[in-house]
Amino acid sequence: MVAAVSLEEVYKVYNKVPVVNDLSFEIQAGEMFGLLGPNGAGKSTTIRMLITLTRPTQGRITVAGYDVNRDRDRVKQNIGVVLQQISIDNDLSVWENMEFHARMHHIPNSKRQKLIDRWLEYVELVDRKESLVKTLSGGMKRRLQIARALIHQPQVLFLDEPTVGLDPQTRRRLWEIIRDLNRQGMTILLTTHYMEEAEFLCDRIGIVDAGKLIELGTMDYFRSKYGKGLVVKESGERIDYQFFPTLDEAKAYLNSLSDKTGVMVRPSNLEDIFIEMTGRRLD
Ligand code: ADP
Repeated sequence: MVAAVSLEEVYKVYNKVPVVNDLSFEIQAGEMFGLLGPNGAGKSTTIRMLITLTRPTQGRITVAGYDVNRDRDRVKQNIGVVLQQISIDNDLSVWENMEFHARMHHIPNSKRQKLIDRWLEYVELVDRKESLVKTLSGGMKRRLQIARALIHQPQVLFLDEPTVGLDPQTRRRLWEIIRDLNRQGMTILLTTHYMEEAEFLCDRIGIVDAGKLIELGTMDYFRSKYGKGLVVKESGERIDYQFFPTLDEAKAYLNSLSDKTGVMVRPSNLEDIFIEMTGRRLD
């Protein structure tokens, strides 16, 4: 089976510095894949190469079976894109934005109105279709971007930091939409620096740091590699973390301590594992 997205030894070099450094991974059709890493790790640059906005300096990339260098138009026909910087036209209405985008993709009249309605309904913006985009909230704008990215029925959806700057409730609402789209079969690649977002949404997570992929796998894989149980010891300013293969082993260790002051046990999460891997926090 052809992978939905494939990168082979990809580099992007700016001013002699590789900001994407020997990146190789594949995303299968129907997968929800997350690229997680701190600011400056090279996530956006990677997305920009995948969506044909910038060329790899070296290496091979295919999306929906097409080479991003040789078959740029085919790649563009088969992808939906939601970029970090909001790219919708503020002075147009919700409907006009959808209409404009659908025309750019040459969707015929007969189908266009139905598709616009369908996707606006899906993201719950039908009752705002006459509103100017500039009157929408941040969450609504993001939902409109998603509806617009889906109108030409792409095979792969790219979401660059889809919930950055949104309040927690709005973020959860977007998570539901993203997860539901994936359950309907959409292949999705998202970038994020929110640990809980990657943990909640993604089947597999690639962790990037300084342009390099430092770890790749499912949450189950990470937790069995680093430890499912965590003992957290607080003494003054200092917090120490100790991983155990299972939660029970972490509990047994706690019980064996004569002084349990400031010590607690909990299941490990992606943030703990990231700190263990890189020695630092993301935010
Ligand atoms: P992330 O999305 O993980 O925050 P980026 O891909 O935006 O990371 O950036 C990775 C690195 O590449 C950063 O150091 C950034 O300054 C640099 N960079 C990105 N785009 C350009 C560019 N057009 N010219 C020069 N440097 C760039």
